Amino acid sequence: MMRDIGLGILVGVFIYLLVMGYNILPVAMLLGAGFLLWRFVIQRQLVHTNGKGVVVSNTPIDFADIGGQNAAKKELQEALDFLLHSDKMKALGIRPLKGILLSGPPGTGKTLLAKAAARYTNSAFLATSGSEFVEMYAGVGAERVRSLFRRAREIAKREKRNSAILFIDEMDILGAKRGSNISHHEYDQTLNQLLVEMDGLSTDQETPILVVAATNRAEALDEALLRPGRFDRQVKVDLPDKEGRLAILQIHTKNKPLASGVDLEAIARETFGFSGAHLESLTNEAAVFALRAGETQITENYLREAIDKVMMGEKLDRKPTPEEMERVAVHECGHALLAEVVRPHSVAHISVRSRGNALGYVRHNPKDDLYLYTQSMLEEQIMVALAGAAAEEEILGSRSTGAAGDFSQALNLAEKMLISGMSKLGVVDLDNLGPEKRHEATKEIFEHLETETREVVQRHREVILTLAEILRTEETISGESLREYLQPSA
Ligand code: ADP
Repeated sequence: MMRDIGLGILVGVFIYLLVMGYNILPVAMLLGAGFLLWRFVIQRQLVHTNGKGVVVSNTPIDFADIGGQNAAKKELQEALDFLLHSDKMKALGIRPLKGILLSGPPGTGKTLLAKAAARYTNSAFLATSGSEFVEMYAGVGAERVRSLFRRAREIAKREKRNSAILFIDEMDILGAKRGSNISHHEYDQTLNQLLVEMDGLSTDQETPILVVAATNRAEALDEALLRPGRFDRQVKVDLPDKEGRLAILQIHTKNKPLASGVDLEAIARETFGFSGAHLESLTNEAAVFALRAGETQITENYLREAIDKVMMGEKLDRKPTPEEMERVAVHECGHALLAEVVRPHSVAHISVRSRGNALGYVRHNPKDDLYLYTQSMLEEQIMVALAGAAAEEEILGSRSTGAAGDFSQALNLAEKMLISGMSKLGVVDLDNLGPEKRHEATKEIFEHLETETREVVQRHREVILTLAEILRTEETISGESLREYLQPSA
């Protein structure tokens, strides 16, 4: 409407100027060029909104297809009941739920939860990502937000759905604290537009829209987004615990032929820290290993090999020299030995095959998922980290750069001890401690642990030599074999 009036006035002015005898050609050409630029550059960006950036799907995902995450599922379902029973809500004067924020590490099932939410509520499902809104041209992001909400309504209507769920992944890119992106105000405008659209959502609207956003940096979001009436439900989607991992493994092996006797619970136990996406990839890799070996069933060995692959990366063809190989074998045996001495039955296996950045590695076998560590546990972990270099020194007479990563890990653990008040300084504020005192305190932690580590290595020198020799030819040693060799000298 406004555009038509403006256009009419413009044409009128032009005719008037023409009648008065002015030469309007340069101005008309300039305006024409401006219009073409707008058409081709800005409009093309907007077309994007209806193009590849948005995924519309009739999602076949159900809450039962999501393993673990029971607390998140329950909380989400409770929130969704608002949408399902909006009449009851309205009768009680409860304001509609407009946004749910799913926060947690990548690959934990946030997208799956949003899809399951759409199915649960019989909603149309549109998915996009925060990065899709970031453009160089001012106003494009904001227009994209507007058109997204419009499109959600259209699709819901066309598919005859009760409501629409708009899923925005990587919300932190779009919804970072305003003013934090110094380079351009485009982000702020886009965020403002999202807030405007969300504020405009009300029960009276024909098609309720629920915005489900996902982020792994909830702390970076603008507070305005988290205010009541916007994303007022926050659901944490954490890494799965052991039971959760088992459930996810069961879901992803349902369509795969597992050999009889495969102990998925053991695999769940050995995969502490894995996300759902890691576990999915693990089951897939195990199936690929079986295929490559020409087998029709997936054995536990393939699953174990897949753990290594997901954890450490692809096996490399990099061939170390015989001297390097000897050093790597001694180094890894040092770690494994110490781990087994301080925590019996904790080594899953030792390997000197190059994978990712590592020339060799020891995979540990956590008994339980642990979220708290005592002082002695931290000290034991430091000793295990120091043992690689200690074994190199004791057996080969010198250290190598291979221990650099171990030392930084040991330093991190020592820092953890400092901030947990486990050093002689007691409870301290690390920021005000000063580098000198900090150094002294860590040094003291290390001094006696290093001595102790060296003593254990010296005591088991012969076992390390034997194991390193086997490793050089066999490339891997299982935890069970390690324990057998260790028995007589223990
Ligand atoms: P996020 O959105 O949290 O980054 P996704 O939901 O996209 O993670 O998950 C990626 C993939 O990982 C899924 O397609 C699925 O195969 C697997 N996955 C992640 N979490 C789970 C889970 N809880 N249960 C089953 N599969 C999962």
